[in-house]
Amino acid sequence: MNSPRDNPKSEVHLTVHRATHQIGGNCIELSTADGHRIILDVGRPLEAPQDARHLLPKSLDLAGAVDGVLISHPHQDHYGLLEDVPAGWPIYCGAATERLIRLSSAIFGKELPHAFHSWKSGHALQIGPFTVTPMLIDHSAFDAYMVLIEVHGKRVLYSGDFRTHGRKSALTKRLMAAPPKNVDVLLMEGTNLGSDKPCTTEGDLEDAFVDLFRSTAGRVFVAWSAQNVDRTVTLYRACLKTGRTLVIDLYTAEVMEALAGFGKLPRPGWKNLKVVVTSAFARMYRRTGREAFVEQMAPHGIPAAKLAETPERWVVMVRPSLIRDYVPKGVTPNADDVWCWSMWRGYLGNEDGALVSKWFKDGGSRADHIHTSGHASPSVLRSFANAMNAKQLVPIHGVAWDEDTTGFPSIRRLADGEPMVI
Ligand SMILES: [Zn+2]
Ligand SMILES: [Zn+2]
Repeated sequence: MNSPRDNPKSEVHLTVHRATHQIGGNCIELSTADGHRIILDVGRPLEAPQDARHLLPKSLDLAGAVDGVLISHPHQDHYGLLEDVPAGWPIYCGAATERLIRLSSAIFGKELPHAFHSWKSGHALQIGPFTVTPMLIDHSAFDAYMVLIEVHGKRVLYSGDFRTHGRKSALTKRLMAAPPKNVDVLLMEGTNLGSDKPCTTEGDLEDAFVDLFRSTAGRVFVAWSAQNVDRTVTLYRACLKTGRTLVIDLYTAEVMEALAGFGKLPRPGWKNLKVVVTSAFARMYRRTGREAFVEQMAPHGIPAAKLAETPERWVVMVRPSLIRDYVPKGVTPNADDVWCWSMWRGYLGNEDGALVSKWFKDGGSRADHIHTSGHASPSVLRSFANAMNAKQLVPIHGVAWDEDTTGFPSIRRLADGEPMVI
């Protein structure tokens, strides 16, 4: 009798439908010869125009059944095409990930029809013939997982996006110290290959913000992503240490409220934290039938006009839509203020970045850049791949995998849509 390993009926196929040669837009399929399929992430390509539709890779069969779609973490380049996924395909992800995905959909007035099943870190679950073990790791998204999938005697480890220098670094390091055994394929991200993006720790950033808040006479305006919860925590802690008050917008307030049950995170109502209630945001909440949230935030809210008083008190969130509301209320930057871009420097070159940067330049405010990458450094990527000791490493989620391969174990380079037998 054949063992499962050489029985063609138990063959396992891996197809990276998208992300072998780009950062994000991940869509990966594992299938068995007896017709079972599991999909890892259905990400929206980062460069896709906002109104572009029908972006699921053509090589993904939408007609057949799927045992489950696993979402590694709540970043658009990993879940952003869920609305195009057949409604009958079940979704598996962390409970906080589901909250954040539903929150983002609600902003666009949409509701996903899919059945969501939540998983727990370290607990294996059975999805058809696939045994799936999610493992919480460190990334700039809240609730990010690596996933180990076992089927017909084969083991695949999907890295999702990860790093070792955020507030959850211990989780990634623990996994590196005690890696899963006998992994056949490691599907690993390589975002930072070929770049020298800063990978300082969130703790170091906190110190840098403390220095900046202390040395600034006026307001400190900061542009950061509402979903980068580590950064919100860092800014809040720096405010506590310097006696300043962090001013977040309604969307960030909603994110923190949604996550309140998942950890000891700052939320509206806490000291040194205020929500700026601006007219455009309040209108948007009314339009999508969620005015109740605006009312719920009212006791913790301040009008934008308040930011023009006692400037030494405020650390203010900034983005183009907020600027449009700040200006009519008399909030304009001046030479006593400092502004800080706390996102990837590359985004400064896009339309939003240029608009924000011009506003402060016109006001004569000094610029600062305090940020750290959401992804592992090239040297950590190498250590991680070697620690996992997989038979084959399949590179994904990177643009420099063909230039920067020294120090990585046995690479199997795939093209998008090219099936591989494991
Ligand atoms: Zn990603
Ligand atoms: Zn990510």
